[in-house]
Amino acid sequence: MNKILERIIIDNKELTKKGKVADYIPALSKANPEDLGVCIIDMNNNIYTAGDYDKKFTIQSISKTVALMLAIMDNGEEKVFSKVGMEPTGDAFNSIYKLETGDISKPLNPMINAGAIAVSSLIKGGSSEERFERLLSLFRKISSNDNLKVNEEVYLSEKRTGNKNRAMGYLLKDMGVLEGDVEETLDVYFRQCSIEVDCIDIANIGLFLANSGTILKTGENIVSEHVAKIVKTFMVTCGMYNSSGEFAIRVGIPAKSGVGGGIMGAVPRRMGIGVYGPALDERGNSVAGYGVLRDLSRELNLSIF
Ligand code: GLN
Repeated sequence: MNKILERIIIDNKELTKKGKVADYIPALSKANPEDLGVCIIDMNNNIYTAGDYDKKFTIQSISKTVALMLAIMDNGEEKVFSKVGMEPTGDAFNSIYKLETGDISKPLNPMINAGAIAVSSLIKGGSSEERFERLLSLFRKISSNDNLKVNEEVYLSEKRTGNKNRAMGYLLKDMGVLEGDVEETLDVYFRQCSIEVDCIDIANIGLFLANSGTILKTGENIVSEHVAKIVKTFMVTCGMYNSSGEFAIRVGIPAKSGVGGGIMGAVPRRMGIGVYGPALDERGNSVAGYGVLRDLSRELNLSIF
């Protein structure tokens, strides 16, 4: 398996030149656009790696999957989906315009920024610190990594420049979707996006979802199979933003990407996958990471369809 992964990394390395590192969050622009790494963890807990699998990056939008789980654990499904919908948008991940058309009463899904901010507002705790600490504990548990922490530089950079997210937060408050203090919710959101991970960490989270909400190593059940299914379904329909349809056809793996360059894959009952390549396509997905997943899917017959 390591040989297969190594070859797939070499085959896709050229693609890194086709993308651009995100720079709308200034601290992200420091990543090396040529980095490319992958990790697979299978149901026997075998770990296979290749390339820059141990480089650190911020989890960004991949965090939306875990925040959604905690929001459902805290509030139940009915309450969460009264605040956020279940439909793909076809718009960019940070689009604000559907919120303002008056046609919708809540963000369309929890994988776009507006929906994720609504979800983060539902995480329980006495303060933004406490709410974030609860979320971080869940990340540490399901990634089997007690050392996960926030990259303070990225967090501060995002907090300083995240004006569009801030605007969406206030719009959501105005719509009656977001309860409580907007700045506190944004603080939880900016911190969750700035958690630093590597390919092994996100492969472990993918494995946890592939294993229906139970930590494989310990057997500890964290969320019901039903909730794990909800998350994986959102990954299929909305996980790759407005490339999700094409990705489902070409790759067929429930996946969630982030502008830090990561993509997390969860192949039900088979494996978790973590990919990192910070050069992004125009929709914000890792361009070479997409290629790695496409090749892996073909080679190992991973499409769920
Ligand atoms: N923190 C990023 C933002 O809010 C997350 C977006 C992403 O990864 N697509 O813009």
